[in-house]
This record gives sequence, C-alpha cells and structure tokens, in this order.
Amino acid sequence: MLSRTLVLKVAELPAFKRWIRHSRLTQGLIKRFIAGEDLETALRITRQLNQEGFLVALDYLGEDTHRIEDAEYAAEQYITLLEQIHKSGVNSCISIKLTQLGLDLGDSIARRNLEKVLAAARELNNFVWVDMESSKHTQAILDLFCELYPRYPHSGTVLQSYLYRTPQDLERLIALGARIRLVKGAYAEPKEVAYPDKRSVDRQFKIQMEMLLEKGNEPAIATHDTRLISDAKRYAAELGLSKTQFEFQLLYGISRELQKRLVAEGYRTLIYVPYGEQWYPYFSRRLAERPANLYFILRSLFRK
Ligand SMILES: Cc1cc2nc3c(=O)[nH]c(=O)nc-3n(C[C@H](O)[C@H](O)[C@H](O)COP(=O)(O)OP(=O)(O)OC[C@H]3O[C@@H](n4cnc5c(N)ncnc54)[C@H](O)[C@@H]3O)c2cc1C
Repeated sequence: MLSRTLVLKVAELPAFKRWIRHSRLTQGLIKRFIAGEDLETALRITRQLNQEGFLVALDYLGEDTHRIEDAEYAAEQYITLLEQIHKSGVNSCISIKLTQLGLDLGDSIARRNLEKVLAAARELNNFVWVDMESSKHTQAILDLFCELYPRYPHSGTVLQSYLYRTPQDLERLIALGARIRLVKGAYAEPKEVAYPDKRSVDRQFKIQMEMLLEKGNEPAIATHDTRLISDAKRYAAELGLSKTQFEFQLLYGISRELQKRLVAEGYRTLIYVPYGEQWYPYFSRRLAERPANLYFILRSLFRK
C-alpha cells in the first residue's frame, strides 16, 4: 500500500509533475478534481451546483507564495472573485489559504492581505473560510484567525482531526464562537504531531464531530466517509438539530452520488470547488488521499 508521504514525495519529482501536467492520460482525472483554470468556468460550475441544491465554497488555487507581489495579487484575485460572485448572483462563499496570502513572508503581510479580503467579503455580505495547511503553519493560522475574528465574524476556519493538538484548538475556537470545518487532514505529517494510522484519525474525528455538533456554531462536517456521515446524521438527530443547523461539506468531483443523496435527503450540503492555474499541489493531495487514483493513471500508462 502506497503511503501518503510516498505519493506526495513522488508528486514533487519534476519528471512526474511534467507528465501529470501534459499527459493525455491524466487530463480526465485533473478535470474531475479541478473545476477549471479560469473564473468564468468556476462560476458556471457554481451555478450548476446551486441549481442542483448545493451551496459552494470557491477556492482560487495557490499556496506557499514567496513573493510579496504574488501574495498581493492573490488577495486581489479573491476580491475580484467576491465581486463576481455578487454580480453574477451565484450562491458561493470563498475558501482561502494564508500561505497564498504571504504567511511565509511574515505575519504582517498575511494579516494585511487577509484583512483586505475579509473587508471586501463584509462589504458584499459574504463569508470567508480560512483553510488549514501543514502543521508548521497551524499556530500562525489560528493566531491570525482568532485575532481578526472579533472584527470579521463572517469567517470560519478548519481543524484537522489527525493532529494531537486539535482537542485544545477545538475548545479555543468553540469558545470564540467561530464556525469550524472539521476535516481529517490532508498533509504528510510526522508521527510526533499527528496520528499515523487511519483508525485513530477516524476515532478522533468522531469524538470531535460530536463535540462540534453539541457546542459548535453551525458546524461543518467535511468528509466523504460514509460511516462518519451516518454517525453525524444520527447524533445530530439525537441532539434535536434540524438538517440545516449544520452542514456537510465535500470536495468537487469526489463521491458525487453521496453528494446528491445528501441534498435529496434534505441536508444542507456545500461543495468545495477549486479552480485556477496553480492546481498541482491540491491535485497531488487528492492523489495521496487515495492511491487508487494514482494506480488508475499508472495502469493506463503501462497498458499503452
Ligand atoms: C470541504 C472540504 C474541505 C477541506 N479542507 C481541508 C483543509 O483546509 N485542510 C486539510 O488539511 N484538509 C482539508 N480537506 C481534506 C481532508 O483533510 C481529507 O484529506 C479528505 O477529505 C479525505 O478524507 P475523508 O474525510 O474523505 O476520508 P477518507 O477516509 O480518506 O475517505 C473516505 C472515502 O472518500 C472517498 N475519497 C476520499 N478522498 C478521495 C480522493 N482523493 N479521491 C477519490 N475518492 C476519495 C473514498 O471513497 C474513501 O473511501 C478538506 C476536505 C473537504 C471535504
């Protein structure tokens, strides 16, 4: 069985990157996970998803920005996105990464860019999710989020069940009153900071999900794991929550039948829709989550 760490390492190899980007064999899989490279396509897909009953969070892809101009450009792109969402009338919030807005260049640069985006979202009556990234950024992301939240309460952030620190972070964010999206976690983390085995991560997710459903503000349960989704439905019903007092969130292109079923059953369901030219790191995390995706393209390669 290929590990997440190994797949992410292979994904960093320049020859592999070139092959993924240019091979005819990989284009179908890229299209499955990435809505497109431009804003127009992303808005068209958002409109379709809205018509099918889904809420949407748009992610203008990008991360690990190392130049101030690129971080400022990303913030401008998000402001344009917010304006276009407003103008086109689609129902979508946005989801952003702080390393895209310059977190590695210093807190003050990321703060300035994040504040610009949050202010634009407030102006346009929209909502901003701050994605969670690798564990070397967790503290800085949460600190910045918690600092700005009181002035920009139309924002939420993400906690990852695989991190040992998450129970404390969950308490801190619940006390703050912020919306929280709970995920298992998508990065290759050392065993000093994160549970290495799926069974422990799933167990943690269940415990944290129950706490979030009990005490959280409009909790977002972000998983495609059907067992955990059934657990969430059951526990929410036990607590007397209606199907719209919490939200299921799923990624564009993954478990599409499940997505449709949730909407048909009346659950509030949001699809996270990534678009943009910088799709490679996001795409490689989707390969690493499910090595079968990688086997699928490698098999087609060797069949040729
Ligand atoms: C809306 C949303 C936002 C997210 N935001 C973040 C974030 O900010 N930070 C972060 O670290 N992670 C984020 N993630 C990713 C998350 O951490 C997991 O890596 C991802 O959701 C896969 O885990 P799972 O909960 O679906 O469970 P798993 O046990 O990994 O998968 C359950 C089932 O889902 C299906 N599935 C899962 N992944 C794939 C795939 N790539 N391809 C095909 N089928 C698949 C399979 O059928 C699998 O059996 C987000 C996930 C979602 C849904």
